[in-house]
Amino acid sequence: MAWNSPKVGILGGGQLGRMLTEAANRLNIEVHVLDAENAPAKQISAHGNHTVGHFNNQQSVQELAKNCDVVTAEIEHVNTYALEAVASQVKVEPSWQSIRIIQNKYDQKKHLSKYDIPMADYRELVENTPEELAKVGELLGYPMMLKSKTLAYDGRGNYPVKSKEDIPNALEALKDRPLYAEKWAHFKMELAVMVVKTKDSVLSYPTVETVQEDSICKLVYAPARNVSDAINKKAQELARNAVAAFDGKGVFGVEMFLLEDDSILLCEIASRVHNSGHYTIEGCGLSQFDAHMRAVLDLPIPPKSLELRQPSIMLNIIGGATSDSHLRVAEHALSIPNASIHLYSKGAARPGRKMGHITVTGATMYEAETNIQPLIDLVDEIRA
Ligand code: ATP
Ligand code: MG
Ligand code: MG
Repeated sequence: MAWNSPKVGILGGGQLGRMLTEAANRLNIEVHVLDAENAPAKQISAHGNHTVGHFNNQQSVQELAKNCDVVTAEIEHVNTYALEAVASQVKVEPSWQSIRIIQNKYDQKKHLSKYDIPMADYRELVENTPEELAKVGELLGYPMMLKSKTLAYDGRGNYPVKSKEDIPNALEALKDRPLYAEKWAHFKMELAVMVVKTKDSVLSYPTVETVQEDSICKLVYAPARNVSDAINKKAQELARNAVAAFDGKGVFGVEMFLLEDDSILLCEIASRVHNSGHYTIEGCGLSQFDAHMRAVLDLPIPPKSLELRQPSIMLNIIGGATSDSHLRVAEHALSIPNASIHLYSKGAARPGRKMGHITVTGATMYEAETNIQPLIDLVDEIRA
């Protein structure tokens, strides 16, 4: 059997699945996507072996698995019981156990605590009553972050509790969800590291700086600006140690807080390729998508290929005030030197929806910053 003949199934065919498919296509690897008809990933993969359905549906996962050798996911919010059910029949990477722990942010923190990973202190809520949260507030202090354990993304699932007076609103905003609270991390910068777990090693990409606006990732600077070599290395080591606590192969995204005293806390892990790793397409020899495909198929990954070749800045194109405002950003980027444009072909834009991204590289970070500034201004202008 040829090295590239195994079929890779992907739960989810959004932009991450699409970029995984782009990486697979260049190696003549066939990916089978489980998602709605004509999902972004399916659009660039012309064969009849995709599955129409949802990654939470047991039957759909079963159908996908039938024709695959390895199954992976572009999102952590998948039905891990469905993955468990097919695990005797196909390889599931990373393991369903890892995805199950990671998709519940409270379980994830409990698991990482056993491995001495530094994190903001946290407490589980059991009754979700104002009295209970007030008690937690006394323990953790204010502000604190109230978080949904499950189905969190883009900050939807977080509520900052600034003082005791915010408690009723916080519980209302996150009502009917399983909750925990986190001590506030007074960070000076948010960092991220993409980690690649292979059959026998744990490798990392460089440390990047992430900037979120309204809790959605807006910008990624690679490498993190004004961060010493020592901190860059320390963050990579923390990220590798955290990912080493989980079974299975593939790329993981690790988000961290850099505090005033230069200590680092882990924010959360994603068991998949990640928005903060898009810069690797232009910035590194192997992208996070290439690395994920290789990791799940046990193909070689030269560590040198994960090093940053040139400073890179990634800007997300988020749905704006009108249905075509994201296209204005992409059009403007056509004239910017060393700007790579990635549109996801998701159809209609909604405010807050990730429609594409642009990566600008430069010989220096200053050059990249200068070239991307007009695009940042435009993104600020079209904001919904
Ligand atoms: P993602 O889209 O990355 O999955 P999420 O919805 O799971 O996001 P988090 O990553 O937990 O949410 O938090 C989103 C953002 O909220 C963080 O990037 C950070 O800016 C802020 N944040 C989260 N936890 C804390 C904390 N304990 N203290 C201060 N700020 C926090
Ligand atoms: Mg998250
Ligand atoms: Mg996050």
